[in-house]
Amino acid sequence: MASLELDGVTKTFRDDGDRIVAVDDFSLDIADGEFLVLVGPSGCGKSTTLRIVAGLESATAGDVRLDGESIADRRPQDRDVAMVFQDYALYPHMTVRGNMRFGLEESTGMSDAEIDDRVEEAAALMDITELLERKPAELSGGQQQRVALGRAIVRDPAAFLMDEPLANLDAKLRAQMRTELQRLQEDLDATTMYVTHDQTEAMTMGDRIAILNDGKLQQVGTPLECYHEPANLFVAGFIGEPSMNFFELSLGDEGLTSEAFTYPLSEETRAAVAGADRVVLGVRPEDVDLVPERTDAHDYEVVVDVVEPMGDRQNVYLTFEPDADEPETFVAAVGGMASVRAGDRVVARLPEEAIHLFDASDGTVLRNRSLDAVEETELRTEPE
Ligand code: ATP
Repeated sequence: MASLELDGVTKTFRDDGDRIVAVDDFSLDIADGEFLVLVGPSGCGKSTTLRIVAGLESATAGDVRLDGESIADRRPQDRDVAMVFQDYALYPHMTVRGNMRFGLEESTGMSDAEIDDRVEEAAALMDITELLERKPAELSGGQQQRVALGRAIVRDPAAFLMDEPLANLDAKLRAQMRTELQRLQEDLDATTMYVTHDQTEAMTMGDRIAILNDGKLQQVGTPLECYHEPANLFVAGFIGEPSMNFFELSLGDEGLTSEAFTYPLSEETRAAVAGADRVVLGVRPEDVDLVPERTDAHDYEVVVDVVEPMGDRQNVYLTFEPDADEPETFVAAVGGMASVRAGDRVVARLPEEAIHLFDASDGTVLRNRSLDAVEETELRTEPE
């Protein structure tokens, strides 16, 4: 396997005279054996980036290097990367065996026997040996996906490029394939660049995730770094389900204020936001506590708008202003057994150590949550 480097990759398209910047000066180093997930909303430039690495699209500027060597001028088949597509892209007239052999027959000087061995080995790894003589039309979506992965593995490439490979599978199969792909990636120690718009896939699969918006790289880090220490408002809102709650507030003498509530700040937090005028306060649903009564300056009397039972937990939508026509709500994720109903008056605590603060003018983070409590929990769960 190999390291993969994207250096200032930029792609502009012309559309009816308009210039669309699909990828904007994107630089990223993916280590040998790393599983890097590129995630972002629809149209942010993920597929274009991957297609540039694969050679299916040429960059307007920038370079792509494999183990330090530029591959930008090489044809796709000469790049030593294997791509897996969302729609599998299997040849319908060929058997599974034929599909898996094809790339090797075309681009290597391997003997028939060698190719057969490679195909049998990859088929066993993907558990599709029984399907080798079938045609793609005789396979389920999940089986076709395995064949597409098998076809990539058989080539033993320097890097895998995967474009939403699980998007066409049903939820249960997707979860199963997620774990299987991770195991496979570890076994093969395969450098992988994996594109998805699904933040759950990004969080659960990536060694690191790269978050893209509007063609621009927003943050690169481990899933937990991006979750707990987002670089900006976009990342904070994109990663996490349900999304982080946001309140736009003004900074004044008493702390942060809006029409609905005032949020007092400690000296330390105030210092972090000094100079900002409008501030966005973010708090994750699991950090909003419902407490029996007001005992802290960050406790607020609110009304339950809607309760969404999820089984293991409930998403409780709360509002400061129950009588408004369209009340602005925020969410608390509480235990599944907690007794809480729409219309209840409750006290919500927004603990100061758990809040994130962003500059409302450009979304950059001013202060992330304290990680002391998080680290303590992680230490406690380590094996003896
Ligand atoms: P999705 O998750 O919906 O596939 P994406 O993040 O992969 O989205 P891209 O397909 O990379 O996004 O597209 C990025 C931007 O470039 C979009 O605005 C898209 O409309 C534009 N774009 C992509 N291909 C072309 C093209 N051939 N001509 C013009 N514009 C294009």
